[in-house]
Amino acid sequence: MNAEFDIAIIGGGPVGAALALALRDSKLKVCVLEARPADSASQDARALALSCGSRLLLARLGIWDALQDVSPIRTIHISQKQSFGRAVLHAEELNVPELGYVLPYPALQDALAGAMKHCNVSSVYGASVTRLINSDGHATIDYQLDGAEHTLHTRLAVVADGGKLLAQQYPPQVRDYGQSALITHITCSAPRESTAFERFTAQGPLALLPFKEGYELVWTAPHQVAQEMLAWDDSKFLHELHQHFGDRVGEFLTVAKRTCFPLGLRRAPQQSPMPHVVLLGNAAQTMHPVAGQGFNMGLRDAWGLAQEILDAAPEALGTEAMLASYRSQRRTDREAGIRFTDGLVRLFSNDLPLVSAGRAAALTALDCLPFVKKFVAKRMMFGANG
Ligand SMILES: Cc1cc2nc3c(=O)[nH]c(=O)nc-3n(C[C@H](O)[C@H](O)[C@H](O)COP(=O)(O)OP(=O)(O)OC[C@H]3O[C@@H](n4cnc5c(N)ncnc54)[C@H](O)[C@@H]3O)c2cc1C
Repeated sequence: MNAEFDIAIIGGGPVGAALALALRDSKLKVCVLEARPADSASQDARALALSCGSRLLLARLGIWDALQDVSPIRTIHISQKQSFGRAVLHAEELNVPELGYVLPYPALQDALAGAMKHCNVSSVYGASVTRLINSDGHATIDYQLDGAEHTLHTRLAVVADGGKLLAQQYPPQVRDYGQSALITHITCSAPRESTAFERFTAQGPLALLPFKEGYELVWTAPHQVAQEMLAWDDSKFLHELHQHFGDRVGEFLTVAKRTCFPLGLRRAPQQSPMPHVVLLGNAAQTMHPVAGQGFNMGLRDAWGLAQEILDAAPEALGTEAMLASYRSQRRTDREAGIRFTDGLVRLFSNDLPLVSAGRAAALTALDCLPFVKKFVAKRMMFGANG
């Protein structure tokens, strides 16, 4: 049977949309099936810290200049609660103009969706994929649209749905950190321009990402505690935050609507579980946001897969040989990103005295040894493949 599409991308979130844009100037027939209705404003409250590497890739996709509301990060201050040891990274000592950028998830999604309207990719919104199988040289996708069932065939199905579609058939390896992230926007009396803070505490890491006149807060805590924090009135919330974070940005003044996300490491057992099918972004690996790796790595996945697709002969699309080459190209960066993030969460989310002293020594080394600083910063900015 002839497939109607060369590439069908399931999920037009930031990673799926980035792949679609990376393929737009090819002669390939590409479609994106996205469950959200067309032009629906995203309600997702999370902000994303983007690395310099992601900026370069988004510029190559032609959407960096279209992004609204981007705030730069030029300094990162890392500390741990109730212990000495801290590290400060400055853009200028690493010879880069910025260490990263902060922007709301919906702003990124809108810019990507806007660019997709003006390219030769078929985007089908309101299309919820219900089944994916592979058969004789292609993949078959069933989806629902406007209450009707539809089917399409493709040489390569890219699953970028965040991780639900194949989870029952191919259960992911899961590490439950027992933590949720409470996220919100806060203002304070003495904000420090373009400075992000990462503070490790026994109940989980807390991050303040500079955004507009205040900060995007990511405050992790055990699930039950996070639920209680959602219910606090604003003045108790601001007071507790001050107790937890300290005086570095003065008094906390206002807090916006709060939202909670459960956190864990979910890793698909195989990136390409069957021929003509590959998992991308969060569908392949969902990580704790502590190191801001999730989207940054998903974007590198998308870019890497696009190069693999563009280099492949038409008859090789979706074959095991092509997918093996993609897996091998991404292995080092993916493994390093997962290990780094998982290690940070486990090393820093406890208050054992010996571990605390070791952490303090590690932070001091990061602060004082330029080559360690450069190594860590380069990893954060560009991933393990450099
Ligand atoms: C609190 C928090 C903070 C974070 N902070 C950062 C950060 O600072 N930096 C960073 O790099 N990462 C961060 N992340 C991670 C980042 O949000 C994810 O890595 C990123 O959103 C993954 O994008 P994705 O496109 O793979 O999946 P998603 O964003 O989950 O998108 C999946 C898309 O697929 C669609 N879909 C789902 N099911 C179907 C279906 N059956 N059929 C069709 N479409 C479907 C959905 O509607 C959605 O549009 C954070 C995550 C959290 C929870």
